Amino acid sequence: ADEARIAFDNLSERATGLFHPTLRLGVAGLSRAGKTVFITALVHNLLHGGRLPLFAAQAGGRIGRTYLEEQPDDAVPRFQYEEHVRALLEDRLWPDSTRAISELRLTIEFESASGWSRMFSAGKLSLDIVDYPGEWLLDLPLLEKDFARFSKEAVERARLPGREALAGDFLAILDGIDPAAEADEVTSARLHSAFAEYLRRCRADTTALSTLPPGRFLMPGDLEGSPALTFGPLNVDPAAAPYPKGSFGAVHARRYEAYKSVVVKPFFRDHFARLDRQILLVDVMQAINAGPAAVRDLEAALADILACFRPGRASWLGSLLSRRMDRILVAATKADHLHRESHRRLEAVVRRLVEDAIRRAEFSGAQVDIVAMAAIRATREANVEDGGERLPVIVGTPMAGEEIAGRRFDGQTETAVFPGDLPEDPARLLKGEVRADPLTFVRFRPPRLERTAEGLTLSLPHIRLDRALQFLVGDRLA
Ligand code: GDP
Repeated sequence: ADEARIAFDNLSERATGLFHPTLRLGVAGLSRAGKTVFITALVHNLLHGGRLPLFAAQAGGRIGRTYLEEQPDDAVPRFQYEEHVRALLEDRLWPDSTRAISELRLTIEFESASGWSRMFSAGKLSLDIVDYPGEWLLDLPLLEKDFARFSKEAVERARLPGREALAGDFLAILDGIDPAAEADEVTSARLHSAFAEYLRRCRADTTALSTLPPGRFLMPGDLEGSPALTFGPLNVDPAAAPYPKGSFGAVHARRYEAYKSVVVKPFFRDHFARLDRQILLVDVMQAINAGPAAVRDLEAALADILACFRPGRASWLGSLLSRRMDRILVAATKADHLHRESHRRLEAVVRRLVEDAIRRAEFSGAQVDIVAMAAIRATREANVEDGGERLPVIVGTPMAGEEIAGRRFDGQTETAVFPGDLPEDPARLLKGEVRADPLTFVRFRPPRLERTAEGLTLSLPHIRLDRALQFLVGDRLA
């Protein structure tokens, strides 16, 4: 039934597409990777004729009108673009981050570059931008696991040495529950909160694994408190399973199956399977700063996420994807925290991080590109002399309360920061053979609008947002 429905949806979407071409662009990334900032910057630059020299249609003056339109999906919240722009421009504060799925349709009227296609093309493209938490993609592997296996893996990981501080509360509650005993709601809810809290601590604690499923326990969306989310792993004894009706073992196993069927599958079927292209945002600098374990962990999470983009044909998801994603961009975000001289190295680290995953997932047929980018550039570059040595620095206004070397900022003062260097060889960095000096990493306030070359329009400054746009939509405006 899933397949038939998707096929029908795709068919009707394509039929409409003949008259009105659309492109569904997925924007994913783990929490705080920069999804909200990216979408807001992209839309603002397109609506206001931003400075985008690498975006061919814009640079060639072929873009006519751009405007926001009613989105195609009535049941998906709208991306709160206007609110985010107001925060950025009026308050110079970063907007609220992504917490669930949202969508925005931006329509671009353009002139084709070649006269021949100009005769046939309507010269109009609707870009449907779908913003969703990358955490949700980590749930895909759960579809192939039953409750006993999920429990076993989750409990084994929580018992790894060095996890006491993170998992202690959860394990204490877990060990107090006999899976064969009669279930009660209060205990189930306590187990769930302790387990979810442990997963969140893993995210916050940079020495531990940061990205453990279930994804909705980290990013619940609007389902918090529903039975499909109120469960946790148990000390399941395979010899004793299946547990009697009404026992913890039976109730939690049933809720786990519900989680898969009412939470995980609908997301992949109704939203993910319909994407044409995807940008995956990655905050690498944060991981590098946290040390080699965090970097390896990020690598593992990215591999899981990328595996969703190219599932095996025989898998549940593979059978749903009647159209396959043809372009995937992996973008290291917040490159404005480094001097331009380090951008190549940042790209090299990301390339190294996703290399194996890309090879494994057989991305043949899809173009994959990697870019170091800042959707919004909050700093500018400068050089300072330090004892005869030239130091490349970045200059920005740290947010109120940020600290560098004991100095506390008030949110009004511009300052020069030497961000530090990324190591030359990313492979050795990932293996932990060399350790990067901690980068000086403070949050800067968003910038003011800058004047474009024409001197007429004001635009949000960025680094390589135009390259990302060209890769993701450029060919559809050719
Ligand atoms: P989301 O959870 O993926 O939606 O993440 P956000 O887009 O809300 O970004 C999280 C935080 O990262 C923001 O509040 C900013 O502090 C920072 N950030 C994101 N993108 C950029 C960028 O391009 N430049 C700078 N300097 N900071 C950014």
